[in-house]
Amino acid sequence: KCVVFWMRMSDLRITDNKALSRASKQAQQDGIPLLALFIISPQDFVAHDIGARKIDFVFRNLHSLKKSLSELHIPLYVAVQKRRKDIPTSIIDFCEKYEARNLFANIEYEVDELRRDIETLKLGLSKGYRANFEHDKCIVEPGKLVTKQGHAYAVYSPYQRNWLATVNSNISYHLEDCANPTGNSSSIRTSDVFSPLFDTSIPAADVGLQEDDANKMKEVWPEGEEAAAKILQRFLNTKSRTSQLGAVNPVSSGSEDSPNNNRVAEYGKERDRIDSDTTSRLSAYLTSGVISIRACVRATMLAEAKKIEGDKTSGIGRWLQELAWRDFYTNILAAFPRVSMGRPYLEKFSAVVWENHQVPQESGWKVGMTGVPIVDATMRCINEMGWVHNRARMITAMYLTKDLMIDWRVGERYFMEKLIDGDLSSNNGGWQWCASTGVDPCPYFRIFNPYTQSLKADPTGNFIRNWIPELRKLHGTDLHNPPATLADELGYPRPIIDHHVARERALRRYKNPGEE
Ligand code: FAD
Repeated sequence: KCVVFWMRMSDLRITDNKALSRASKQAQQDGIPLLALFIISPQDFVAHDIGARKIDFVFRNLHSLKKSLSELHIPLYVAVQKRRKDIPTSIIDFCEKYEARNLFANIEYEVDELRRDIETLKLGLSKGYRANFEHDKCIVEPGKLVTKQGHAYAVYSPYQRNWLATVNSNISYHLEDCANPTGNSSSIRTSDVFSPLFDTSIPAADVGLQEDDANKMKEVWPEGEEAAAKILQRFLNTKSRTSQLGAVNPVSSGSEDSPNNNRVAEYGKERDRIDSDTTSRLSAYLTSGVISIRACVRATMLAEAKKIEGDKTSGIGRWLQELAWRDFYTNILAAFPRVSMGRPYLEKFSAVVWENHQVPQESGWKVGMTGVPIVDATMRCINEMGWVHNRARMITAMYLTKDLMIDWRVGERYFMEKLIDGDLSSNNGGWQWCASTGVDPCPYFRIFNPYTQSLKADPTGNFIRNWIPELRKLHGTDLHNPPATLADELGYPRPIIDHHVARERALRRYKNPGEE
């Protein structure tokens, strides 16, 4: 007999994990061992366009977890299930085999995953097994906050105000629910109990990642809860340095202890600067659940030692608003499942005519050869590091959809392939915001001028110079928008499209969806 905790790709941690905590309590109450289970289904990776870097990150974290769980005498069983539709049956078969009356898991809000869990729940009930699903990904669970009319929020600002009030109403929000698991008593020799029944080794991860890329990802984005906690502390306690761009290990960099002038304190003012290392770089860890959002919010509240004001100029207040975007987009995914099915939230833009036959332009964008330095630096940074600053993501997404008029779904897919923090709700939300097709989007007539954006976001030019060696000698406006002869001389492409002409085309097509 045992209790089963079914771990997923989005909750890869022991600390502050709601379903794990509940499973542990149940096991203690029943006086039986706790077992952790992880199912790998390659079809899940394909269905969500999850790239090799993120899959590799998941496997690295699984190895790290296996070690930490074994210190608590909790075995981790990792199994491969080729067909994702067979997962519910195999989970309930597993419960039957090990007489696990109670199964615990945290909810994943994507449509297929919700269907899978409902199926598991039904199948379990029909055979006398209880599947318990917990809200864990967000600090305020999807569906909890609604408008006065009882509808899901589709506008961020009122959602965020309600979100902040809810979080402030309980400083240790949900803390009591998430005590760390006590672990199995060492006298219950779980290895003896379970080893004859299954192999506890983790299957090899053949994810198609080149060895040098894998090594770089491991160095820049180290796995494990300890690494995530250090990154959070670095953000809260150390100062940013303008020389650190892209290729920085967020764990080891930033040792200057300066509580009054640290990254988070400067965040309100500096967060849109692409040329310095000002943001937390926690997204990969939040996306895979290596750290919980509750831990991030509690740490900032402790740092302030009070409730958080919604003040945009306060660093912590502003940072919390970014975390609220993450909850907001997850809320949207749960409330409007069509957004995860490749459909725009604003259906009226379904008919916009895209330039999807422009293969050379699309490839130029992907490899960072559009002739627009800020866009190219961004794409080269993503290709190299699996991550780039939010403002850079916005500029390049706006450029692909409005200047090149290439379908936002092409960009969404490419980001998922390359990003280490690829997350369906945030990525879809970001792309649909930039393409003006999403909830509370950028209005279609507010088209970023990439050159002005570049001057504002990268005023030192360090970001562009770092990622485009061809332009390293340039400064000022020449760097942000190189004159054609200079570009030719330096072997850098001329712009593949004229921004002003492209802008007019985008305005026309958005105004009259369906027309050229
Ligand atoms: P910080 O500025 O330190 O913010 C803290 C945390 O808040 C982030 O780690 C993230 O979890 C959350 N957050 C911040 N901004 C946003 C936002 N706009 N939307 C949702 N959550 C946010 N984020 C992802 O985690 N995964 C993605 O796949 C993803 N794709 C994006 C695609 C586009 C086109 C755009 C415009 C944005 C995307 N974002 C995505 C949001 C954002 O760019 C990243 O979360 C952020 O750059 C991560 O860096 P950070 O951890 O240093 O963020």
